[in-house]
Amino acid sequence: MHDLAGMRIGYGFDSHAFKPGVPLVLGGMRIEHTEGLAGHSDGDVLLHAITDALLGAVSAGDIGTFFPPSDDRWKGAASSIFLETALEEIATAGYRIVNLDCVLILQRPKIVPIAGDMRARVAELLNVPAGDVGIKAKTPEGLNQDGVAVAHVTVLLEALAEPEEPKRMTATIEDDAEVEVVVRSLMGETHDLRRLGRKPAFDSDDLT
Ligand code: MG
Repeated sequence: MHDLAGMRIGYGFDSHAFKPGVPLVLGGMRIEHTEGLAGHSDGDVLLHAITDALLGAVSAGDIGTFFPPSDDRWKGAASSIFLETALEEIATAGYRIVNLDCVLILQRPKIVPIAGDMRARVAELLNVPAGDVGIKAKTPEGLNQDGVAVAHVTVLLEALAEPEEPKRMTATIEDDAEVEVVVRSLMGETHDLRRLGRKPAFDSDDLT
């Protein structure tokens, strides 16, 4: 059962235009297609939206905060690097992924035949079971954006369990008299109630 008080939701969106002459990378997978997605990195619109959803869930800014397009280090970079950084951010904030749900909107290629592989790849990159990743694909009906790939992602996080305080198993004995009481107790000597200055409630001889 999840503790609702320790949960956070995140939402991410991204879009990239299709462009001839570059490989298509979606969900961390290289996909055979006539064109790829334009972008400073590998153009993986799905991983970018997941990264933003994760960062947003812990109020850690967005992908551009960590990887500004002006920085040449990220030119052509695999977008899994962005995802790793977002995972570090949520772990540092004290959270882990419960599940995420993704919507891809693009005219081509068809995602249905590869959705299972994509789900497994995204789950692998996030280190979660495939059952915690939803991937749905839509065509952009009526949107007039056939040359664009769009991704929307929601993610749910829960707080990591805090380590329990170790229980104290020791007792403190202050002086010699206390030590004697403890030792005699352990030896069974104090079972004689008269030695403690108390009278038994009845004399055992009366039990006839
Ligand atoms: Mg992007």
